[in-house]
Amino acid sequence: MRADFTLSAYREMLSNLRGAGYAFSRFGGLDIRKRQVLLRHDVDQSLQAAAIIAEAEHELSISSTYFLLLRTEMYNVLSPDGRDAIAAILYHGHQVGLHFDPTAYDDDPQGLSNGLELECDILERVTGRPVEVVSFHRPASSLIGKQNEIQGRINAYGERYVHDIGYCSDSTGRWRYGHPLEHDAVRAGRPLQLLTHPIWWYRDEPVDLQRRLESFLSDRTKRLDRELAANCKPYRSVNPLEPEAN
Ligand SMILES: [Zn+2]
Repeated sequence: MRADFTLSAYREMLSNLRGAGYAFSRFGGLDIRKRQVLLRHDVDQSLQAAAIIAEAEHELSISSTYFLLLRTEMYNVLSPDGRDAIAAILYHGHQVGLHFDPTAYDDDPQGLSNGLELECDILERVTGRPVEVVSFHRPASSLIGKQNEIQGRINAYGERYVHDIGYCSDSTGRWRYGHPLEHDAVRAGRPLQLLTHPIWWYRDEPVDLQRRLESFLSDRTKRLDRELAANCKPYRSVNPLEPEAN
């Protein structure tokens, strides 16, 4: 099966999983005996892309979990655009978890533990909801398939969620473990954790993924250009604010 990374292919994949008898569950509702998909999005690049996927899932009456980074240069959960995107994700009935980058804490266990609490606290204040689930950003293999909880919160990379059930991911823009519908767990009717990254799926043009990233970067640069012009007079005098295209 071709890995066609478009919004319509994404919708079709979810509909086909449902057609195969699967229901979409949150991590806390996992029942190992049922045909369940734990649908997870690690938001590495763009909250706006995540909000588009969130709306598409809502149209299919599907709820999933969006894992957000705090220690990233790519987006800001407190910026006006960031807050709008998070509000849209929540409005469409989804859950928000923390996407935690352990490399920000220099392998110091106490620092790591404090950092996790601090980031969960910030995210809870931003969303007004508890952070029930955490996923690691680009984890070392030593962090995968171990404890099911970290500091009282579900660890999406815990043994129960990656070894006891099927696990499938679109990391790096390909299905490293095979297409979800052809996954051994789905063939056997077992639960599946399905990890996707919104950046691969949020547009409908079937372009190659390098072009997709370049187009995302170009949009982001235009946004920063407008922000600079709006807030910095010397820049605006040379680069006047253009009316925003819709
Ligand atoms: Zn990540």
